[in-house]
Amino acid sequence: MFSVHSFINSPVDSVSYILFNSGSREALIIDPGTEDDTRLTGYLQDNELDLKFVFLTHEHFDHILGMNFLREQFPELLVVSSHKTSDRLSNPKKNLAIFHNQLNLIVDKADILISEGLIEMIGLEFEIFSTPGHTDSSLSLKIEDAFFSGDFLLQGSRIVTNLPTGSRKDYQESIEKYSNMLQGKTIYPGHGDRYIFEVNNNL
Ligand SMILES: [Zn+2]
Repeated sequence: MFSVHSFINSPVDSVSYILFNSGSREALIIDPGTEDDTRLTGYLQDNELDLKFVFLTHEHFDHILGMNFLREQFPELLVVSSHKTSDRLSNPKKNLAIFHNQLNLIVDKADILISEGLIEMIGLEFEIFSTPGHTDSSLSLKIEDAFFSGDFLLQGSRIVTNLPTGSRKDYQESIEKYSNMLQGKTIYPGHGDRYIFEVNNNL
């Protein structure tokens, strides 16, 4: 059994998720996008959760701003991302921080690099999918009927494919490849509210 709690970030309205194993109380954070986010650490503390992993869907600053603070607070933390995301974390041009308030955001590489497939974290089995489109580095994370898409899927037609390494063609190919699997799943997107995937909503 797992539970999910979401947090809207600032200055950009991306969404961070804490997902935890209700039995073992071990937790995973997806895309910490607010600097020094004491809401996350407070939530972990209040609910007696043991933070073990962070999963980064892609390298953009609004999904990684809270990373350095979490590493300070939890030195044992393991960060999971794609190889491309990991390589770009320390580059403020590639993580786009430099274009927003000139934040000089430098995040160290991930600890576990994965492209796709099954991975066990916090005593639960997850499936990771390579989902290029918004960026070529984008990964999504699935557990049971929950699909954490980062910026690969957003409700409606707001998907952004014109940033560096983004591609409309890649996005359409990803949608085609995964639409059967995604049908009826609950999407936990990188921005906005969770929603149920229906093929026609995302083409
Ligand atoms: Zn992004």
